[in-house]
Amino acid sequence: MWVDINAHLEKLDDSIEQVNQDCATSNVTVIWSGFQPSQWAQMQALDHVRCAFGLHPHADAKVPDWLDRLAAYLDDHPTAPVGEIGLDARVGFPDFARQSAQFEAQLALAKSLDRAVIIHAVKAHQAVLDALKRTQTTRFVVHAFSGSLELARAYLALGGYLSCGGLTTRVPAPRIMAQLAELPISRILLESDAPDLPVSGKAQGHPCDVRHIGQTLAERLGLSVQDLADQTTANAQALFGCDFVQSG
Ligand SMILES: [Zn+2]
Repeated sequence: MWVDINAHLEKLDDSIEQVNQDCATSNVTVIWSGFQPSQWAQMQALDHVRCAFGLHPHADAKVPDWLDRLAAYLDDHPTAPVGEIGLDARVGFPDFARQSAQFEAQLALAKSLDRAVIIHAVKAHQAVLDALKRTQTTRFVVHAFSGSLELARAYLALGGYLSCGGLTTRVPAPRIMAQLAELPISRILLESDAPDLPVSGKAQGHPCDVRHIGQTLAERLGLSVQDLADQTTANAQALFGCDFVQSG
């Protein structure tokens, strides 16, 4: 059993039914991340597909009542995480002050509902850490983490998890891979980020690629692939508070 904690299934060429079927065959459950209100309306949970709802830092909500709508989706999906939300300070993305206000409003909502949060953090780690502290957010994962060991420890100290994606299979691997053994395995998760950040040799990511990513991590950590799968699945269950194994 494998858990892909973050994928953007609306961007895949395959239908959701096909993705669900492939995940069933490969013993994978995927969390389909939210992006913006018009996309939340298209999302559906299936046996091997869970939904998260959130306004992504790259997105334009387009509707003034987006936060109320988000609260309603979370109400309708009692175990759904909040995500993908966060901060991205690269040029070309929405105004950073607006991103920050939207991010903190969603962190506060997640905190009030006791939901896990899937975080996007690019060139904005200190601002993300500050927001997490201000909102006393402890149930979160930083997706596709590729920062320093020091930064990893700062997130872990707040109670967070870090997730490894397709970049970890490439050469050169993100610098954190060389120091992965220094981090507690109990706080590591896997993700495809599909179709973005595909594994080495592929043009497009797919949720079932978490098996390849997990094999790479297991080799690096000197663990059996089964142990790595079991551990990361248990980690996902601990963070998201739902039983992925029962899903079939
Ligand atoms: Zn992201």
